Amino acid sequence: MTVPPEFYDEGALVGVMTTQPLGRALDYRAPEGGCYPGAFVEVPLGPRKVLGVVWGPGQGGFDLKKARSIIRVLDVAPMREEMQIFLTRAADYTLTPMPAMLRLATRAPGLGDAPSMRKVYRLGHCAPSRMTDARARVLEVLEAQRDQLFTLKELTDEAGTSASVIKGLVAQGVVAEQDTPRDLPFRRLDPAHAGKDLTEDQARCADALQVSVATCTYGTTLLRGVTGSGKTEVYLEAVAEALRQNRQALVLLPEIALTAQFLTRVEARFGAKPAEWHSGVTMTERRRTWKMVGEGGAQLVVGARSALFLPYRDLGLIVVDEEHDSSYKQEEGVLYNARDMAVLRASICGAQVVLASATPSLETWSNAEAGKYTRLDLPARFGAAVMPDIRAIDMRGEDLPGARWVSPTLTRAVKTRIARGEQAMLFINRRGYAPVTLCRACGNQIGCEHCDASMVEHRFLKRLMCHQCGETRPMPTVCPSCGAEDRLAPVGPGVERLAEEAAELFPEARIATLSSDMFGSARALKEQIALIAEGGADIIIGTQLVAKGHNFPLLTLVGVIDADLGLQGSDLRAAERTFQLMRQVAGRAGRAQKPGTAMLQTFQPDHPVIRAILSGDEEGFWRAEADGRRHAGVPPFGRMAGIILSAPDAQEAFDLGTWLARNDAPLRAVGAEVYGPAAAPIARIRGRHRVRLLVKAPKGVALQPAIAQWIAGARSSNNLRLSVDIDPQSFY
Ligand code: ADP
Ligand code: ZN
Repeated sequence: MTVPPEFYDEGALVGVMTTQPLGRALDYRAPEGGCYPGAFVEVPLGPRKVLGVVWGPGQGGFDLKKARSIIRVLDVAPMREEMQIFLTRAADYTLTPMPAMLRLATRAPGLGDAPSMRKVYRLGHCAPSRMTDARARVLEVLEAQRDQLFTLKELTDEAGTSASVIKGLVAQGVVAEQDTPRDLPFRRLDPAHAGKDLTEDQARCADALQVSVATCTYGTTLLRGVTGSGKTEVYLEAVAEALRQNRQALVLLPEIALTAQFLTRVEARFGAKPAEWHSGVTMTERRRTWKMVGEGGAQLVVGARSALFLPYRDLGLIVVDEEHDSSYKQEEGVLYNARDMAVLRASICGAQVVLASATPSLETWSNAEAGKYTRLDLPARFGAAVMPDIRAIDMRGEDLPGARWVSPTLTRAVKTRIARGEQAMLFINRRGYAPVTLCRACGNQIGCEHCDASMVEHRFLKRLMCHQCGETRPMPTVCPSCGAEDRLAPVGPGVERLAEEAAELFPEARIATLSSDMFGSARALKEQIALIAEGGADIIIGTQLVAKGHNFPLLTLVGVIDADLGLQGSDLRAAERTFQLMRQVAGRAGRAQKPGTAMLQTFQPDHPVIRAILSGDEEGFWRAEADGRRHAGVPPFGRMAGIILSAPDAQEAFDLGTWLARNDAPLRAVGAEVYGPAAAPIARIRGRHRVRLLVKAPKGVALQPAIAQWIAGARSSNNLRLSVDIDPQSFY
């Protein structure tokens, strides 16, 4: 490898990678004043100006007089070599074209804008004419942090006053107002601010992580511990160590609704809030975070999977909380698994990875077994909290009328809890009112016009919704198929219908329903969660959303309406997912001083997965599951890739699939096999017919180059789309 130059002088020929789908870097001349390797630049492309990154020396080989010049260098830190290597390796791994990868790494609005100004506040020189409580609080905040510049919002938040109080103080010269660039550094986090006294087990794990972080080298640790055992407390100590090393830390969370509670904990631990990165963050904050991460003005980022692609100046630690969560896999656009990419990125920049979970993925569990990852265990819940008692309710013995889902046994248990002033949760992993709407006159099930899926009634929204493409339409009163009036009937339960049943069963109870589609904004959801945590509801009815990490101290009973739901899929991970979800949901009960109970309604109490959940023999479950997969040669003991072909015309997709299956020499050369083509389980999405192929290969095979060569040979048309899913998580 050639050593990259330190600087390109004006006029030097450089290669610029743009975010346009060109597939390679284009040659340009360095602009007036020259530029650094990695500089973010604006370049002319045909009649347009586009964003790009100075990727390396130009290739030349054409009439150099025709080379155009870079228009300007943007006012942001150049991309580091480490980031370039990461993007290149991630692109190779996921078989993603580099421009698409680069788009992930430049997702900040207004990157090219000139820095704009905003007003900030600090202590002024005068004394106030009259002192009020509100004014005193403002002064207290400013005096305690004399070097700090506050935005109006930070100051009003911290002092608990209105903007007018501050403006009043500005008018008197008590508070000074000044203009600064909009993208200010984040407040400093203090690793010594307020550490908790850890239990012996927690301290052992925290020490081990701190020693690893202090080495400033790569390593991955599985931090396993039941819900409530203090994993968060422990990894915050690893974050503290990264801060002491003057390196940055990133905490990935699977669900934005979780960040609110987490931010509060970070503030309690380090004295200030970290930077946030997820879809709920405003455009200006996104740009600020992106820039400050690059300049070192953000020490800790809390975010969703795409936070992995921020331009960290010196990343020393990545925590992937709830590492088994399937939402870490991006299923659209660039298909990547944030957990795996976190390990890749850390291995390049010499950082530590902490994978935290109560129920690790089989991949991670077996990497720890194989010694590739270090494993740390937190055996017990913190304080008096004990693991919930998990029982099955055998639905074959319950007397339940049609269109009712809460068994008499579960109903009694809920009533007991409410009578004691405790909370109960009813869990069903299905959004909406009813999964199927059936016409009683003709037997037709209302389906989506664009997808091979039934429309789900959402009574709350008064609409039918397709969970594949998101298409909605008003709830009809007439059957779209036979025209019969008022004969449409809901079939099966969703979370909204369960809420309706609960309202009838428990008329006195305050019921809160939590489902991701019922809240207009992330903030509304956060508020609802906080309200519930404080005791603002007796019964919580929820989907998967509630399974993830929320802390409800009064909750002592969790009832799972349909524990068999996940067991029916043909999915390779069905057992693992059900096991994780049930353990996770059960873990919501009894987190504080009161012991909890989880009740699983099931028609198959003898199913091996249900038995493993009940007995709590986790290691036994993982070992059995690992044996099965090893035997079948499937992940993590073999490699897989999914190929999805889609086209408006089914035949066209099938023809290409057949061609690929017949011309599989590049795959066979490395010992890989191809299965299919077959219509995908969901054969149509958004009007496109879908055909799948599955590639299986032994572990350790260089699968990506073989696939690249294989699909490069396929002739394709504009209508056809081919996407490759390396290590697929879902098979729909
Ligand atoms: P996990 O991440 O494993 O679910 P948490 O870190 O959220 O566990 O801990 C569960 C609860 O117990 C939290 O409210 C946390 O603040 C509290 N807790 C855990 N360990 C300690 C400790 N050593 N001192 C005080 N509180 C603790
Ligand atoms: Zn649809």
